[in-house]
Amino acid sequence: MRFKLLPCLGLFILLVACEQKKPVDRMNEEQLRAFADELAHKFIITDGHVDLPYRLKVKNFRLEREYMGIPVSTKDGDFDYERAKMGGLDAPFMSIYIPSSYQQQPDKGKALADSLINMINTIANQIPDKFVRANSAAEVDAAFKAGKIALPLGMENGAPIGDDLANVKYFYDRGIRYITLTHGKDNQICDSSYDTTRTWNGLSPFGKNVVAEMNKVGIMVDISHFSDSTFYQVMRISKVPCIASHSSCRAFTPGFIRNMSDDMIKLLGQKGGVIQINFGSTFLDSAVRSANEQNRKKLQALLDEKKLKMSDSLAKPLIEHFRKDNPSLYADVETVANHIDHVVKLAGIDHVGLGSDFDGVGDSLPTGLKDVSQYPNLIFVLLKRGYTESDIEKICYKNVWRVWNAVEAYSKSAK
Ligand SMILES: [Zn+2]
Repeated sequence: MRFKLLPCLGLFILLVACEQKKPVDRMNEEQLRAFADELAHKFIITDGHVDLPYRLKVKNFRLEREYMGIPVSTKDGDFDYERAKMGGLDAPFMSIYIPSSYQQQPDKGKALADSLINMINTIANQIPDKFVRANSAAEVDAAFKAGKIALPLGMENGAPIGDDLANVKYFYDRGIRYITLTHGKDNQICDSSYDTTRTWNGLSPFGKNVVAEMNKVGIMVDISHFSDSTFYQVMRISKVPCIASHSSCRAFTPGFIRNMSDDMIKLLGQKGGVIQINFGSTFLDSAVRSANEQNRKKLQALLDEKKLKMSDSLAKPLIEHFRKDNPSLYADVETVANHIDHVVKLAGIDHVGLGSDFDGVGDSLPTGLKDVSQYPNLIFVLLKRGYTESDIEKICYKNVWRVWNAVEAYSKSAK
């Protein structure tokens, strides 16, 4: 009896193993691409930073129904419903972006934030078969099951908080689930990577209270755009893990301190956080970055010589001609995978995610990741490099869910 059972048991284990693990190594390229596409749709994909709200604002988005074509199907921009469905994107964090110019006028910043939040609420209310607002990982899970695209909210720039701590709770109540404390300039909360003033050498005294209040009410701290000293101070005082909603690795872009250094990535990981990789070519590759920067300067000099502005209609043929002779360079999907590899090497597979900056980085997206329909191309490259299904699931959403749930749980216990 014992001897008959053993071979049966062996066969059973083999069958279970085959069921659980697809033989990726034996797949040809076409099969692997199909499998990547399958995984993109099997797993939730969350993206830390999509600038749709500001793109719609620039286009004078109106709340009437006839303008609703924009987020469903469009030829310009990087995000719409149809392309998101094609790419398997389920939970793009809508960036409630407040330009640095609002820093001296927090009331106007708050009004702008409210209007952008209202815009996203309106999209969800008016197209309920396609979109739904989501304020927790559990709500995104439910939206995913219902086949809808969830729209969680993150605010980029804490300027609208002004000097009133009560605004942190106000924005939580409005659905904001992460705040990037500053943007391109130092503000009342902290110093920015792009600003060399170093007003506070990190967080302001008020900024320290803002971080504590965010922990308390349950808003994730987004460390993207921070100066290094702001980052290290937040790591010291935050009671919960943090995210970088759209940053890449400085190792590939030396001197570009908007990206995270190796030491910062390691520390973010040790504290349980996640870096969501920015897809902008200038975030990914310093050679691409400097070549494009040189082109930009050359074009500007040409326009200055002719006394023309970029927006002048007379400048258009000149710009087109210049761009034909001096095409922009782009990173590619392999470069994005290199950044993911780098984070995995430094901090481990549990600390990396996706934060494209779609609709926010203009014409700088890498070949193979030009819009929200193309996440499967990245999954294909990751599969080729030996990432397992479970690794890919973590990158697509599980790592971010861990942080989001921890922040929510801490807030509940702190009440
Ligand atoms: Zn940004």
